Amino acid sequence: MSLANGRSYLAIPGPSVIPDAVLQAMHRASPNIYEGALHDLTDSLIPDLKAVAMTDQKVAIYIGNGHAAWEAALANTVTAGDTVLALATGRFCIGWGEMATDMGITVQTIDYGDSTPIDLGQVEEALRADSSGKIKAILAVHVDTSTSVKNDIAGLRRVLDAAGHDALLMADCIASLGCDPFEMDAWGVDVMVSACQKGLMTPAGISFVWYNAKADAVRPARVSRYWDWRARTDPDQYFQYFNGTAPTHHLYGLRAALDMIKAEGLEAVFTRHETLARTVWAALDCWSADGPLAQNIADPANRSHAVTSVVAGSPNGDALRHWCEYEAGLTLGIGLGRSPADAYFRIGHMGHVNAHMIMGVLGTMQAGLIALDIPHGTGALDAAARVIAAG
Ligand SMILES: *Cc1c(COP(=O)(O)O)cnc(C)c1O
Repeated sequence: MSLANGRSYLAIPGPSVIPDAVLQAMHRASPNIYEGALHDLTDSLIPDLKAVAMTDQKVAIYIGNGHAAWEAALANTVTAGDTVLALATGRFCIGWGEMATDMGITVQTIDYGDSTPIDLGQVEEALRADSSGKIKAILAVHVDTSTSVKNDIAGLRRVLDAAGHDALLMADCIASLGCDPFEMDAWGVDVMVSACQKGLMTPAGISFVWYNAKADAVRPARVSRYWDWRARTDPDQYFQYFNGTAPTHHLYGLRAALDMIKAEGLEAVFTRHETLARTVWAALDCWSADGPLAQNIADPANRSHAVTSVVAGSPNGDALRHWCEYEAGLTLGIGLGRSPADAYFRIGHMGHVNAHMIMGVLGTMQAGLIALDIPHGTGALDAAARVIAAG
């Protein structure tokens, strides 16, 4: 007998849970795209998108997923033959680098593996070694969703400045925006990319590139009109916002999501994510005391507040995921980019998530560990409840 029927919880690290308010905002007839209310709504998104990124700089919207934002960021800043430095701490920066390679860009990669953050000292060495200034941009992922590592993006600015290097600092905040604190301007980030389906709680389909004047100034001689961020940020005509038809329903959904973030307050959103992340870690610390389970990232300071990657031993990762999904209605994330993939899983705790949902995740996992006879330490749910109770 399955106990999965009822409201399910998709606890993967994106797409995240879509709030009812977002779904309801999208449930409507198509609006006129040529004039009227949609134009005002689109204009209203811009200051709020800048606010979540903590920037006064510009933001361009693209119809596409995070991969589209990756390509847009590269297309507006580097050109075939240029070199970029990719700082890999999991699958995602590797992917961004692969896209750069496809565009004819030379990618110098420092790979930190699957369970440690960027080593700033090593980056500084690489920058100092580049005395001719070949490296045009640094590609770094704030939170790598495959490993759940969180990197020190502000530290990269300090290292660039210390080395006196002029490369652009480009950050992927697709998994972290609206979950982990990020301050584009205060941290000296030149280009930041994100998408709508993780901390921004909207169905996948639109993505964003924030960029400052320095990034705009280095733009290559040729940028296709589709990727060009200038027309999108300073449109003479409304259609230039999107280089064609507006993603009408996504704009309504995003408006509702940004309203929710504003109503809660960005600081409170961050604190909620931090507390819920500590709740997950508290349970994992207990389970890990005996048996094969372990946190992928040892130091809490280097862990994401949006996703937690767990080492479970093969085939426990897949077995637990499947049990939770088919027996209890909880979908956990796959061991993305890991080998063997069935030895890992991930818990998404980003966006529209609260205490009872996280306690539900952990209680379900506890039941799965018992049902599958996977050895584990005791006291996980008590430890988690104590974090929630302390607030
Ligand atoms: C999800 C994610 C991506 C990819 O975004 P898509 O919308 O799937 O293209 C890239 N980087 C990070 C850090 C992500 O979490």
